[in-house]
Amino acid sequence: MNKPVSNTPPALNEKAMKLVAEMLAGEITDIRPQLDFTTEMGFAYPAIEQTLKVNAEEAVSILESLAAQDILKEDFFDRLLHCPRCRSVHLRPSTHCPQCGSGDFARGIASKHVPCEFSGLEEEFVTDKGHVCPKCGLELRTSFGNYHSLGLMYKCHNCYEVFSQPEIQWRCLKCGTLTPQNKVSEVNIYCYRLDEAKRGWLEFELKPKSQLIEFLKKRGYEVTENAIVKGRSGAEHRIDILAARDDGIVTHDIAIGVKVAGDEIGLGEMFDFDDKVYDIGIHDKILVALPGLRTEAEEFARRQRIKVLEVKDLETLLASAAPQPDKEIEREPFEFKSKSQLIQYLKRRGYEVKENAEVKGRSGAAHNLDILAARDDGIIIQHIAIGIEVSGEPLGLDKVFDFDNKAYDIGTLDKAFIAVPGLTHEARQFAQRQRIRVFEVKELG
Ligand SMILES: [Zn+2]
Ligand SMILES: [Zn+2]
Ligand SMILES: [Zn+2]
Repeated sequence: MNKPVSNTPPALNEKAMKLVAEMLAGEITDIRPQLDFTTEMGFAYPAIEQTLKVNAEEAVSILESLAAQDILKEDFFDRLLHCPRCRSVHLRPSTHCPQCGSGDFARGIASKHVPCEFSGLEEEFVTDKGHVCPKCGLELRTSFGNYHSLGLMYKCHNCYEVFSQPEIQWRCLKCGTLTPQNKVSEVNIYCYRLDEAKRGWLEFELKPKSQLIEFLKKRGYEVTENAIVKGRSGAEHRIDILAARDDGIVTHDIAIGVKVAGDEIGLGEMFDFDDKVYDIGIHDKILVALPGLRTEAEEFARRQRIKVLEVKDLETLLASAAPQPDKEIEREPFEFKSKSQLIQYLKRRGYEVKENAEVKGRSGAAHNLDILAARDDGIIIQHIAIGIEVSGEPLGLDKVFDFDNKAYDIGTLDKAFIAVPGLTHEARQFAQRQRIRVFEVKELG
């Protein structure tokens, strides 16, 4: 198997987990913001702050990150404007002349004198002698059609522009900055609720998953969550949980897939998992299927030797994990000078060991194996077939081939071969291809 790369998404931090747990339990349902202009943000989620003992900013960032991970759904609540310079929400709109920006303008009914093109507000035309254009001095006469009303308009006292719509700008009451409407920052604020489609997955993620990982770690496994592994086909696969334990004699890998569906898991998802794991070259497969499997998927799992853990199995397994079956295995370097030393080593690692084991294979043939070791770690029973061959010269392909055949026939896929005094080049290559761990030793006591 290629080395896995962990691709764990930014894990839910403790506070976010607590919030999700409260929401799953129904203690918190709808999360609604409160507008509060005494604060810098202008809004807050006081219930969340209280429950999680965080400040307003932290509460918002937790909610946003949960929404970004599609755990919470957001519903639009309101939009707040912020000063782009100091972030304050204390903004006051003010109106300005679109031509020169001055705030000094008047509103009124405007008229235009057509001959001289002067535009002004009504009062500018009013004199003692009636309506007179202040620009050209001619009297306005409606009957000659030489002026017309423009309706309600604004006139700037600074640049004399007449306009229909003043421009809105926002004055920050904190830092004084004046910002045009299109430059002001907008912040949408939301209500949040749990995405019910994620409930099953979250319920697993929150508790049993970490317990399962703990269970594996206590049994000496190194655990990678969301492992990305390159398969033999060259494709990259994501495995929910990858557990690997190096016993010195072999490295034992378990691929664990997690399928949490609102409904029962079907065949398609099983195929998908089985294909990935096959491509990676792991033969111990566990599928956590919550709530459970459909019948046809169950049959497929049996045929493909996929161990399925449903809700009940998982509960039983994790409950049994409480009193630890084996004491913490101390890390000891793997070395042996004799067969009996090797057997002692395996026994210390919790293996049951049979020497010169007689085993009937699937073909019906009886095989004799130098060492057959088995270890039940509560989740899976691991078998190791160990072959020992001693000769006066490097052992050839035939010996390794024989051993591999035997192991295959009895269905043991963790294989180790001890060759005294060593292997020929082609035998070594074959062993590597068949994933047999080879120990070439000069002599064995
Ligand atoms: Zn005029
Ligand atoms: Zn102006
Ligand atoms: Zn400001």
